[in-house]
Amino acid sequence: VIDAGQPEHSIVTTCAYCGVGCSFKAEMKGDQVVRMVPYKGGEANHGHSCVKGRFAFGYATHEDRIREPMIRDSINDPWKVVSWDEALAFAAKKLKDTQAQYGRESIGGITSSRCTNEETYLVQKLVRAAFGNNNTDTCARVCHSPTGYGLKTTLGESAGTQTFDSVMKADTIMVIGANPTDAHPVFGSLMRKRLRQGAKLIVIDPRRIDLVHTPNAEEGLHLPLRPGTNVAIVNALAHVIVTEGLEDQAFINSRCDTEAYNTWRTFIAEERNSPEAMEAVTGVPASKVREAARLYAKAGNGAIYYGLGVTEHSQGSTMVMGIANLALATGNIGKEGGGVNPLRGQNNVQGSCDMGSFPHELPGYQHVNDQAVRERFEAVWGVPIDNEPGLRIPNMFDAAIAGSFKALYVQGEDIAQSDPNTQHVEAALKALDCLIVQDIFLNETAKFAHVLLPGSTFLEKNGTFTNAERRINRVRKVMEPVAGMEDWEVTMALSNALGYPMHYNHPSEIMDEIASLTPTFTGVNYDKLEQLGSIQWPCNDEYPDGTPTMHTVDFPIGKGRFAVTEYLATEERASRRFPLLLTTGRILSQYNVGAQTRRTSNSDWHEEDVLELHPSDAELRGVKDGDWLGISSRVGHTVLRAKVSTRMLPGVVYTTFHHPSSGANVVTTDNSDWATNCPEYKVTAVQVEKVSQP
Ligand code: SF4
Repeated sequence: VIDAGQPEHSIVTTCAYCGVGCSFKAEMKGDQVVRMVPYKGGEANHGHSCVKGRFAFGYATHEDRIREPMIRDSINDPWKVVSWDEALAFAAKKLKDTQAQYGRESIGGITSSRCTNEETYLVQKLVRAAFGNNNTDTCARVCHSPTGYGLKTTLGESAGTQTFDSVMKADTIMVIGANPTDAHPVFGSLMRKRLRQGAKLIVIDPRRIDLVHTPNAEEGLHLPLRPGTNVAIVNALAHVIVTEGLEDQAFINSRCDTEAYNTWRTFIAEERNSPEAMEAVTGVPASKVREAARLYAKAGNGAIYYGLGVTEHSQGSTMVMGIANLALATGNIGKEGGGVNPLRGQNNVQGSCDMGSFPHELPGYQHVNDQAVRERFEAVWGVPIDNEPGLRIPNMFDAAIAGSFKALYVQGEDIAQSDPNTQHVEAALKALDCLIVQDIFLNETAKFAHVLLPGSTFLEKNGTFTNAERRINRVRKVMEPVAGMEDWEVTMALSNALGYPMHYNHPSEIMDEIASLTPTFTGVNYDKLEQLGSIQWPCNDEYPDGTPTMHTVDFPIGKGRFAVTEYLATEERASRRFPLLLTTGRILSQYNVGAQTRRTSNSDWHEEDVLELHPSDAELRGVKDGDWLGISSRVGHTVLRAKVSTRMLPGVVYTTFHHPSSGANVVTTDNSDWATNCPEYKVTAVQVEKVSQP
C-alpha cells in the first residue's frame, strides 16, 4: 500500500476483480492512487469492500508492467522494443500474410472478461469486420459459458435474475458449487447478514466451505456430494419436490410451457431420480436430500446462488438447466428473494458475454445465423458478416495443432496458465505463425508471442463493467495509461492498420453503437449512467431505468421452459491408478492466476498453493501437513505441499491455482461441457504420493 498522506482529489470507479462489481473512490495525490476507499453510493456494495479491491491495486504501477510494444520474428528471438506504429504495422502484416496464405478462417481473436464492455465489443467487431470471420471467443468460455446456454434455454435470457440486495428477502438460500465468502466476499458478507437474521442455508459442495458455519446463525445443511454428480443431486431434489406435491402449480400453469413441463415431470418422477436411487452416485444420504428439497420448496422465498462448481463440468449446461427447473417448479422466479443467480468469477464475465464475444452470437446474444440480425449489424459496420459460427477457444487450439489455424490476437487473457491441459495449450501456441498478446505483464502466454502490445489496467481507462446482477457500472480513468494507449484504442489502431476503419473519440461513443444494435441496451448511455449511478439491463423503452428483477411478468421466450436433465457420469472417474478426485477453487486474498494479486501486498497472506486432503487419505499415504506431494493425472504431473483437512471428503482433494508454479492446470484434463466446451476443471482423477522436496 502506498503511503497515503492527504489525498488531493478522488474519482469513483469500479473494482476490477470479481463479479460483485464494488464501487470505490480512488483517492489521488498527484497522479498516484494513494488509497481505494469503498464508495457508499455503490449500489452493489453500499460502502463495503474486501481485501482485493481495497488493497490489491498496486500492480498497476508494478515494475513488471510492459511499457513499450515489442516484436520478434520467432519465439526463440529476443524481443525488440519498437514504436506503437511499428508494432501495429508488424502485427497487421502478419495477420494479412497469414490470411493470404491459409485463408480467411485461419486467424481469430480472444478477449477477456477483465476488460471493459467497450473493449470486448471492439475485439469481436475487429474479428467479424476486419478479420472477416466469427473466430472470436472470451475467457467466459472456461467459466460461465454453460450459464449462457442453460439460462437462455430455460428462462430465455443469459443472466442472473436478481439484484444482490434481493438476498435480504430470501427465506432459504441454496448455494451450489460456490464459495462466496472467499470468491465474492462482499456479497458473501451480505448473505451471512441474512443468515444471521434467520434465513436457512443449504450448501451443495464437495468441500465444507466457511459459509456452512456462519457465526450467530443456524448451522447450514451441507450436502457434500462427490465431484461430478451435480446433476444427480439436482434431479433428486426435483424428484422430491414433484413426488411430495411441493410444486407451485399456479406458477407452473400460468408462467410455464405446459408440454415441456409435462415431459419433464414424467422424467423427474421416475424412481431412478429419487434421492435413495442417487445416494450411491452422489454419496449424500437420501434423508439429507429430502430435507434440503423440503427446505427450499417450502420456503416463502427460495434463492439459488451458484458458481464454477456448477458450470465447470462435462454436464455444466445440464446442471444450470436443472437449477432453473427447481426455481420454475417452486415459483421462485420473478420475485425478490428468489431467483437463479450465477456468481460470476471475473469483474466483467457478464459483460463480455453480453458484448458478443462468442463465435455464434453477436452482441445481445443475437445468433449469427439470423439474417435480420446480421443485416442490422452490416448496415452499421459496413461489411458483410459471416453467417457460420466460428471457432471456440478449444477448437482454436485443436485447429492450430492440426495446422489450419495460424494466427491469434489475445487481449487480457493468460491462456497458457488458465486453460486446462497446459501441455496441449502450449503445443497449440507453439504451432502458430503469429501470436499477438495484449496484456499488462509478460505472462505465460507471452512466452509464445511474436507481438507484445502493452495493455492498460482498470485505473488507466474509461469504460463500463457489468457485474453478476447485470449492473452496468462506470470505470473511470484515474491515471494515464503507462504505455500511452487504453486497450480500446489499441484494438481500434490494429483495425485501422488492417484497413478496416474504426474511429471513436471516447468509449461513450462505442457504448452508443452497442445500444443502437443491442435490444437489451437501447436505453443505456453514459449520460444516464452519470445520472443513475448504474443501470441493470434490460434497459430500453419498456424499462428506461433498467430492470432489478427479471421475468416478473413473462420470459423473453414467453413461457418458462423446463428441460429434461438426464444425469450422465463424467468420463473422469477415480480408478485404481488414479484413486482420488481433484477439485479446485480460490482463496480470499488472491485472484485467479494471481497475475495482479501476487504483485501486491496481498501475497503476504498466501505464499503458495497447497493440496488439501482428508486425514484418512493422508494417513494411508503417510502424509503430514507440509509434506511435499506429487500429484499425477492422466495428462500431467505437479508437486504441492500437503494440508490435511477435514473440510474434504475422503477420496477428494482440493487446490487453488493462484501461482504458476502450482501447475494445477498441468493436471486438469480437456474434458468439457457437452454444449459449450467449458472445461471440466472441477473433476480430475489423480494419484497423490509423498515425494522429497522438488
Ligand atoms: Fe472487488 Fe469483488 Fe472484493 Fe468487491 S467483493 S472489492 S468487486 S474483489
